[in-house]
Amino acid sequence: MHDGPANDVDVIVVGAGPAGAAAAITLARLGRTVTVVDRATFPRDKCCGDGLTASALRRVEHLGLDPGRVASWQPVDEVVVVDTAGRAVELPLRSTGGGLFAVSARRFDLDAALLERVRESGVAVREGRAVTQVTGRPGGVSVGLDDGTRLAAPFVVAADGMWSPVRRLLGLTPPGYLGEWQAGRQYLTGTGPDARKLWVWFEPDMVPGYAWSFPLPDGGVNVGYGVLKGSNPMLKGQRVDWHERPHIARVLGPGASEAGPWRAWPIPARIGRTPLAGLGGRVLFAGDAAGACDPMTGEGIAQALETGEAAARAVAQAGPGRPGQAAVRYERVVAWGLGLDDRLSQGLSAVLARRGGSQLALSIVDKSAWSRRNFARWMFEDYPRAVVATPHRWRRRLFSRPGAYAHRAFPAGSGDRDAGTVESHE
Ligand SMILES: Cc1cc2nc3c(=O)[nH]c(=O)nc-3n(C[C@H](O)[C@H](O)[C@H](O)COP(=O)(O)OP(=O)(O)OC[C@H]3O[C@@H](n4cnc5c(N)ncnc54)[C@H](O)[C@@H]3O)c2cc1C
Repeated sequence: MHDGPANDVDVIVVGAGPAGAAAAITLARLGRTVTVVDRATFPRDKCCGDGLTASALRRVEHLGLDPGRVASWQPVDEVVVVDTAGRAVELPLRSTGGGLFAVSARRFDLDAALLERVRESGVAVREGRAVTQVTGRPGGVSVGLDDGTRLAAPFVVAADGMWSPVRRLLGLTPPGYLGEWQAGRQYLTGTGPDARKLWVWFEPDMVPGYAWSFPLPDGGVNVGYGVLKGSNPMLKGQRVDWHERPHIARVLGPGASEAGPWRAWPIPARIGRTPLAGLGGRVLFAGDAAGACDPMTGEGIAQALETGEAAARAVAQAGPGRPGQAAVRYERVVAWGLGLDDRLSQGLSAVLARRGGSQLALSIVDKSAWSRRNFARWMFEDYPRAVVATPHRWRRRLFSRPGAYAHRAFPAGSGDRDAGTVESHE
């Protein structure tokens, strides 16, 4: 037990998913000493759709991630959205300036590559060690691990996912909390040429929510669905047999077969309605631990990266003697960066939940090439959800800038990974 004044490091990061990796790399870049603790040993699986939006791609590029290290990296440039009446609208995702707006990559590969970046930044990583105790101590926090060892630091960034053991240990999880969305996915192999596109289906029995098929290399796909809890008693996260939905089976092709088990997991989308800080600002929650997923789409990788980086900056700016300021800064940045977008997403989600909501939305989107292109870019988070209402976030060429990794060549839809170099942002 740490009774004395000594801290082991400046910050302990609990969880090495996207939120923890972004926090750790940012802190190291700001000259802070960091230890990352994760109960899993990487590479580890994470139940996810494996879809990286433009926002997530710009952020992993900024963190210095080399796509060449992510074996299942699959650029996506064709998206098809199908409304509840079966009308399909094709949305192009290519840009004249080049670059990527959407990629699928197995979390097994992506998170391991991100953790390599963490190590390369000079951060110590303890894998296969679960945090089991979190207590305040003079000038910081004491963290107990399941091997009986303890670590102490002025700050903890809790990036420990949907169930956030740190949040629970501090008594900050509402009783009975089970997440806002229920989602599940499965890997298939042997899919046909139509499954090289990214598909989103608004199924009549899945609104508010949707089914997806995200392409992966070598004829693989990640197929799954997510629904808002409470409104879909029939589904409750159970496996869906895609062959019983002929329009989906047709896209997947006759050769599609299971390449892994069905897995289900909840999605937390309650930013602003869950504490972002604990122990007077000594602990900041990021990513799923902060409930940061988009309430309309359930996506959370970009939000995990964004909140991880914001928590790191808040801690570094406040300094070890002013934890209260770290909390205030962090809450302000999150409200500024995600709060309004979150409220807009909630409103749009309510529209999509109505009978015919997706039909109305897609009929507007399908008006012109301009609306199709810009809707695709907006849907894949290239601009903040509520950008029109927040002029402070307008910047030059917002609607026409190239995608992420624009200096690298990624042949369309081929999954071919070019050997070109990635610019370092350090
Ligand atoms: C079915 C499904 C599909 C999804 N599809 C998408 C999608 O396509 N695109 C998208 O952007 N988002 C998607 N999401 C959401 C996305 O998966 C999450 O928002 C994202 O993983 C959050 O990242 P994170 O770093 O906060 O948490 P996580 O990635 O969950 O990482 C948390 C880490 O904390 C560790 N941990 C937990 N407890 C402890 C402990 N006691 N001690 C130490 N370590 C601990 C875990 O081992 C884990 O590595 C989906 C979610 C689901 C369930």
